[in-house]
Amino acid sequence: MIKAIQKPSVAVHKFSSCDGCQLAFLNLGEGLLDVMELIDVQHFVEAGAINEHAQVDIAFVEGSISTPDEQERIQNVRRNSRYLITIGACATAGGVQALRNLNNVHEWAASIYAKPEYLSHLPTVTPISQHVRVDLELWGCPVTSHQVLAAIRALLFGVAPVQDHDKVCLECKRQQTICTLITKGSLCMGAVTRTGCGALCPSFGRDCYACYGPAEASNTAALAHRLEGLGLPRDAVARRFLFINNAAPAFAEVGKQLLGGK
Ligand code: SF4
Ligand code: SF4
Repeated sequence: MIKAIQKPSVAVHKFSSCDGCQLAFLNLGEGLLDVMELIDVQHFVEAGAINEHAQVDIAFVEGSISTPDEQERIQNVRRNSRYLITIGACATAGGVQALRNLNNVHEWAASIYAKPEYLSHLPTVTPISQHVRVDLELWGCPVTSHQVLAAIRALLFGVAPVQDHDKVCLECKRQQTICTLITKGSLCMGAVTRTGCGALCPSFGRDCYACYGPAEASNTAALAHRLEGLGLPRDAVARRFLFINNAAPAFAEVGKQLLGGK
């Protein structure tokens, strides 16, 4: 059960990521000042607040786990927070850095670095939920200010944050956006991708590349078949699924099948 929180203390933690999701806060501009009246920011390095071990009501976590140090740090974050919310594709479904799970990371490192033994990394990159309990996952690469604010607002009122599970295609229909797959034969992933972005890419006439991850009950095999029918080679179809959200089971399963069970 969720209890309303008066002026919750908040921490924003970064793991392996590009920092883009933290901008969902900073991009609020002047609105950020209003938000700061409602929350007590204890730790948010990009905004100048540093108190990594603070006990907080809400911890926002950006990034995936790729090093032994991060493996330990996420346990501390979990211990120190009442609600843990992942923000973005990296934290929620691996991110682009988790693509290295498809190959041998030690061979890759050796082919790039003269002294790979100085690198400290885990053999695989994994989303936060594979290490600790996660209370809410916000999808997207990056997440939007709207998503983050909606989560904070819900917790302030003591209600469960509402999750978008619909497909991007449904959002296109609601907005009367013309389907790019049917009219242009574009390689759109909207039929299997959760909305939350407002069908942003199709509204500008371009295909969705699934940055919000898998939608509920999506028929990934049928879309893969359709993309092959549009002339995309099988391994390229696999890469449409094994991209930013490659650790999301619904995408990982079909992507790996297309690659021949790698
Ligand atoms: S989800 Fe995308 S924008 Fe967010 S940290 Fe990862 S790569 Fe950057
Ligand atoms: S339309 Fe697809 S790729 Fe574009 S922002 Fe939305 S989910 Fe991401």
